[in-house]
Amino acid sequence: MTHGQPAAPCLLLIATPGSYRTAAYLAAARTLDIDVLVASEGRHSLVSAIAAGLHVDLSDPGALEVLLEANRRRPFHGVVATDDDTVELASRIAEQLGLPHNPPEAARRTRRKDQARQALQAAGVRVPAFQLVDLAQPLSPQLRNMPLPAVLKPLALSGSRGVIRVDDMARAQAACARIEALLRREPVRDAFAASHLLLESFVPGPEVAIEGLLHSGELHVLALFDKPDPLNGPYFEETYYIMPSRHDAADQDASVACVRQACAALGLREGPVHAELRLGPQGPVIMEVASRTIGGECARLLVTGTGHTLESLVIAHATGQPLACEATADAAGVLMIPTPGAGILRRVEGIPAARAVPGIEDVSIAIRDGYELVPLPDGSSYLGFIFARAPAPAAVESALRAAHDCLNVVIAPLIGIEDRRVLRTD
Ligand code: ADP
Repeated sequence: MTHGQPAAPCLLLIATPGSYRTAAYLAAARTLDIDVLVASEGRHSLVSAIAAGLHVDLSDPGALEVLLEANRRRPFHGVVATDDDTVELASRIAEQLGLPHNPPEAARRTRRKDQARQALQAAGVRVPAFQLVDLAQPLSPQLRNMPLPAVLKPLALSGSRGVIRVDDMARAQAACARIEALLRREPVRDAFAASHLLLESFVPGPEVAIEGLLHSGELHVLALFDKPDPLNGPYFEETYYIMPSRHDAADQDASVACVRQACAALGLREGPVHAELRLGPQGPVIMEVASRTIGGECARLLVTGTGHTLESLVIAHATGQPLACEATADAAGVLMIPTPGAGILRRVEGIPAARAVPGIEDVSIAIRDGYELVPLPDGSSYLGFIFARAPAPAAVESALRAAHDCLNVVIAPLIGIEDRRVLRTD
């Protein structure tokens, strides 16, 4: 800042450590001439804005006071949460400062699948039949009357982690044990969520996703994506997101109406919304509504007709200077590259050939060689992303499939100390 000039507005970006979203928000803020203070846990982060930012324990109730103190030093003009884990804290600080925000209890509801289901069901929004499972109690009586096929899932993880379809009692018991082991490896932020699961009826049908921005309770839809690969389990890896939708207009309208109803039922009023729905036999059924943008690097698809990125729209809204929200007109898509197995990533071959496929805009590998790959239902990181743009959604999908066919993910087995002892011959 040059002396005498008014300071640029300041955005508080509350980021989970290692968020895929931080860099995109920082870039968007730069184009809007907005300064950013990143609040995160990554004291030793390689991202300089995180290392130089505010270091808070995001799960500590005292985090709010740390943020308020920072606001006293330099007032924030807006607050944005990068991911699910930070939406509640962001809503609390924004509420205190009178900035656009969701009621904190609404943000919390989107983080707890059981509470979200209860609120939606009570408001008459279509959700799968569901019940809680208490891991401290014997499982058989709790599972006895389950609808089959069923889905078991943790209450507060995201990215399909721990979400498992089961078709009989034996598999349901095994899935409970597997999810319980996964929860034991997670830091306990919510004791109830650490000891309970959600059991749901499996909803068949194609899945769609809706990306939107809420402004004073009104939802502006930015994109409706098709997810053209059947998602029948037992695990639910996210793969293709393609827009515009090829479903008929009635299904699209019903899906948007369902998400509007869901936002109202959850109490969401401001900021980004990412919703996933299934087009079930009786119409759209909500899988989830999150008060954040689409995850990973997928938001890169959403450059609107006016050239604004999704992150620019979110930041402009959060700082009280909303930009016109128009739906994106192009056909575009992303493949979140499936993780083909567990082990150490040696290399990804065929990237130049994948990039050369007509319509492909970028192939971005998110995990470095030498890092461990952990597939679903346990893992949480994306191997990478392929982006395409073409005149029509069918051509986008073909380009993504052709590019994916060019890739060969080379994985070395992970050899534990126990295995190494067995392998030694000397
Ligand atoms: P997360 O928040 O971890 O992404 P979700 O509850 O949204 O977890 O589930 C992830 C994916 O699993 C959904 O997008 C869907 O494909 C599948 N899924 C979850 N619950 C059901 C269900 N009841 N019926 C059918 N598919 C489901």
